[in-house]
Amino acid sequence: EASAKVIDGKSVAKEIREEIATEISRMKESTGVVPGLAVILVGDRKDSATYVRNKKKACESVGIKSYEVQLAEDSSEQEVLKYISGFNDDPSVNGILVQLPLPSHLDEAKILNVISLEKDVDGFHPLNIGNLAMQGMEPLFVPCTPKGCIELLLQSGVEIMGKKAVVIGRSNIVGMPAALLLQREDATVTVVHSRTKNPEELTREADIIISAVGQPNMVKGSWIKPGSVVIDVGINPVEDAKSPRGYRLVGDVCYEEASKIASAITPVPGGVGPMTIAMLLSNTLAAAKRTNNFK
Ligand code: NDP
Repeated sequence: EASAKVIDGKSVAKEIREEIATEISRMKESTGVVPGLAVILVGDRKDSATYVRNKKKACESVGIKSYEVQLAEDSSEQEVLKYISGFNDDPSVNGILVQLPLPSHLDEAKILNVISLEKDVDGFHPLNIGNLAMQGMEPLFVPCTPKGCIELLLQSGVEIMGKKAVVIGRSNIVGMPAALLLQREDATVTVVHSRTKNPEELTREADIIISAVGQPNMVKGSWIKPGSVVIDVGINPVEDAKSPRGYRLVGDVCYEEASKIASAITPVPGGVGPMTIAMLLSNTLAAAKRTNNFK
């Protein structure tokens, strides 16, 4: 029985983090400066708090100084903006990240638009997204999760040029930028979303699938072309009485089935997740290098 190569995001991310740590000590030695990342968390979503905690830990592990602001669920837009402009003006802060999703009374687009372009390490500023979409333009930063997906493909030796790719999902933070990045790598890209009819007919044609939907086990084995490469971004809790927490995390892709048909596949957890954080650290280092004119 055929069995897909497991794309080990955890170990690729670890290597990247080690390179980043080395670069940061080199920079510190020569300039005295260490990169700084500010994280703003509004409200008390448990998953967001976990993501912020993990990002903070990852910063510490490579030598990035992290600044965390925790604001109440009912914070006003003005209050959030006040912190952003403070960080915009603070030279020790090289990257600013607003943990999404924001509480629904806050205008996400307006808030992201205020982050200084040079500090937009999440890559969500409309000018960075616009430059990602435009021929001949270079964004200062690319969103971390889709960047991590492409990095996994490249590191695994997957050829992207001329290949048929299907991205499932079109969110601003994953699906849409993933499709733009694949096009930049010269893939022919189809985007599937909630109104797509017969998505399995499109995915069955794909050499590369990136799934970012948020539906456990939606992508069945029968959706996948033999030999294709599957990147599973989904992180979905499903009930599991055997787990001490009462749930476990699975992807969008039915791993059992897919791993018998694909030639390579990312696991959940241990695939895209760790890459997202590695890309955030990489973007923060790049920001610090750019401002300090350090090569
Ligand atoms: P969103 O909810 O913002 O977007 C989901 C997308 O999937 C939408 O474009 C939606 O379509 C589409 N969709 C929903 N249902 C279907 C369906 N039945 N068939 C086809 N398309 C569908 O989610 P995110 O992009 O923020 O996240 C997606 C998943 O990735 C989640 O599980 C999330 O937890 C995970 N994630 C993982 C990260 C990591 O580091 N590994 C980072 C970020 C997210 P429409 O536009 O029509 O509504």
